[in-house]
Amino acid sequence: MIYGATFKMFGDIGEANDIEKNFISVLSALENLKNGSKPSSQLLSSVIEKCRDYLRSKKDTVPIDEIAEILSSLKRVTSASDTKYYSISQNDIPHKVRLCIYEGLIINNSSLYAPVVVNSNLVGILSVEGLETDERNILIVQEYTKIIARTIKQSQTLKDAVGLYDAFRVLYEEINSLNSIDIDELTGNLIKSIHRIFPEAIGGFIYVQKLFSFGLKPDEKILSLARKTAKPSVYNSFVIIPLKKEGWFVAIKGRPNDRQLWMLEIICNYAGEMFVNAQMYKDMKELAMYDGLTGLYNRRFFMTNIRNEIKRHKRQNKPMSVLLMDMDHFKKINDTYGHPAGDIVLRTVADIIKHTARTTDICGRYGGEEFAVILTETHLKQALDVAEKIRRNVMNTEIPVDNDVKLKITLSIGVSMYRMEQQASELLRRTDQLLYRAKENGRNRVFGDSPNDLFKE
Ligand code: GH3
Ligand code: MG
Ligand code: MG
Repeated sequence: MIYGATFKMFGDIGEANDIEKNFISVLSALENLKNGSKPSSQLLSSVIEKCRDYLRSKKDTVPIDEIAEILSSLKRVTSASDTKYYSISQNDIPHKVRLCIYEGLIINNSSLYAPVVVNSNLVGILSVEGLETDERNILIVQEYTKIIARTIKQSQTLKDAVGLYDAFRVLYEEINSLNSIDIDELTGNLIKSIHRIFPEAIGGFIYVQKLFSFGLKPDEKILSLARKTAKPSVYNSFVIIPLKKEGWFVAIKGRPNDRQLWMLEIICNYAGEMFVNAQMYKDMKELAMYDGLTGLYNRRFFMTNIRNEIKRHKRQNKPMSVLLMDMDHFKKINDTYGHPAGDIVLRTVADIIKHTARTTDICGRYGGEEFAVILTETHLKQALDVAEKIRRNVMNTEIPVDNDVKLKITLSIGVSMYRMEQQASELLRRTDQLLYRAKENGRNRVFGDSPNDLFKE
């Protein structure tokens, strides 16, 4: 009997413990069925071809749908011929067959209906018709349902494993994309990672010092929840994941599934570390660049800047000028009103210089009470005008240093324009000489290169 032969072949599947071997068994069983030549239809050949394709390509995934497709093809085989073999389908279960969901195996005349159960879930019904329903065949059918269940389960396990592998690959790639020490760049990349892991995200925002919104306006409710969130939390329509440092977080609108949430947590955890690094780097850079009292560039950074500007000047052949300023009789202020008052005066004068210069100009604290400005793309005449403006603005400003004490201070300024092939040190020495002359000539004045000087030497 063909059935016996078929079942026997499928019985071999039970010995196989991996999907591929199962497929080989399925294949030979199908071949056998075909050779037995009762329902030797085109469909059966295409099922066999599908199995062969799988074996040939050695794909590392056997999607459950593929198995379902093969099994449903088998069902079509049965209806295409008048001899019925077996069918498995979640839909289209004959009414009486539904009973076996509750009662297990059902015998009906010459038909057997057996549930296929995977992890306590009914995934299909195996029906075998036109078969003698003796004990031996019942046993075979029951064994067969277990084999199908095991095959399906294995392919699910494989699918899970492949899914997990995919998840790790995505995590690996996204974590690599988060290796940056720039907060803005990191934020942009984190948003991209979030979208890759959780494409259904409706939007969200990230708070790291400032708010980065991606398609979601933060409301007070989410914000106050987020600020207090110490561990990843899922709410009705959004999730909040804290970012390492207190008060830093990611809020995403939407409901990620367990795996997505797990991945989001990992990615955010990593991003959190990176944000802390980036913040540290930013603080350090500022510390290394700026003068703490005035907020202007410190001398070291100013010197780097002037050398870069000279290089740029040489490349583009654009004019460039420098101002050096020294406060007049500043020591007296310290001596009379105290050091803290002196500090207030220093800060105020620094502000005046910064606001009088253009944003493209580079202002630095050159020494204790000395300031320097690089005026980019500026001829001597314009530089003298700027210097004069600064001098007047400082002179005309009353600086409150205490409740009822207002001070006035003046500056002496040297102005020089860059000359071809000059070193930064030469340019500054020349400007310092001009500053010295301003002091000598009575202070509170601007002394510049005379235009004629520029063509001497
Ligand atoms: P001159 O017009 O010749 O430049 O007179 P001066 O008193 O400004 O010159 P001097 O160079 O003798 O004095 C500079 C003073 O600046 C001395 C120092 O105590 C003070 N100073 C330097 N750095 C600071 C600072 O950070 N805060 C305060 N309050 N004073 C400072
Ligand atoms: Mg000085
Ligand atoms: Mg001085």
